[in-house]
Amino acid sequence: MATIIDGKEISKQIKDELREKVSNLKQKGIEVTLCVIQVGDDPASTIYVRNKQKACEYIGIKSQSYKLPESTTEAELLEIVEELNQSENVNGILVQMPLPKHINEDKIIEAISPDKDVDGFHPQSVGRLSIGQRGFISCTPAGVIELLKRYNIPIEGKECVVIGRSNIVGKPMAMLMLRENATVTVCHSRTKDLAKISSRADILIVAIGKAEFVTREFVKEGAVVIDVGIHRNENNKLCGDVDFDNVVDKVSAITPVPGGVGPMTIAMLMYNCVESAMSK
Ligand code: NAD
Repeated sequence: MATIIDGKEISKQIKDELREKVSNLKQKGIEVTLCVIQVGDDPASTIYVRNKQKACEYIGIKSQSYKLPESTTEAELLEIVEELNQSENVNGILVQMPLPKHINEDKIIEAISPDKDVDGFHPQSVGRLSIGQRGFISCTPAGVIELLKRYNIPIEGKECVVIGRSNIVGKPMAMLMLRENATVTVCHSRTKDLAKISSRADILIVAIGKAEFVTREFVKEGAVVIDVGIHRNENNKLCGDVDFDNVVDKVSAITPVPGGVGPMTIAMLMYNCVESAMSK
């Protein structure tokens, strides 16, 4: 029987640990503050922002929200980011993506001070990760590592295949697995014979953005499968990049969707905010 990796439960544990840390910091007169900036009113972004605010409330992090109109210019947004960079009271700055087309996302990410880059998207954070220095780590891949560790799933020496090479999931995921001493292969849309490569993996991490793409022929018997994807299928039910029902009897452990990697992303964002306040 496969272990179903319960990301909801682990994220709750992490949030409870952070709540205690934040309360201790408060006793020392330190308040943790996260600024979340949303431009426009994309409905999915509004839900993500609300969930982040709820997590902040639970933990005791002060959340400062900016909801700016769609017409906000790049210069105006850069000015706000710069003000927040300078503010002594702000520990984390998060600009909710995607941004309207007239704003260059890379420029905004680069404008955020690396000391407050709690999303871990700044080139300096990415560079630090790749050369093994301390810095903020992109929240979703950091959450995957946390799940593996808290389930005592060994990583060192294991064969790991990451499917997907995006800047926010696939690439940092591969770097983190390397840092944990796995042997890592990264696959992507141009990979030839994907199933042959992915079925070598002791740990298979899937971040492709295609609903229920990975079926049992992609998976080795007894593998650990981590599904980062999130979609709604034709029945409007949430599902991942992995066809869960099709692979579950072949694997030793698997993350479900929902309730697997998803809840970990916000928990790790909160972790980064608290770390930022503690390292001041
Ligand atoms: P992306 O679209 O930026 O990247 C997808 C990657 O998959 C690309 O590198 C591409 O080369 C690869 N790919 C596409 N088709 C492929 C194929 N047929 N075979 C092999 N590789 C293929 O996506 P992303 O931002 O990395 O997100 C991936 C998934 O994870 C999405 O479903 C997204 O919604 C989800 N996601 C979830 C969370 C979370 O908190 N759970 C966070 C971020 C992303």
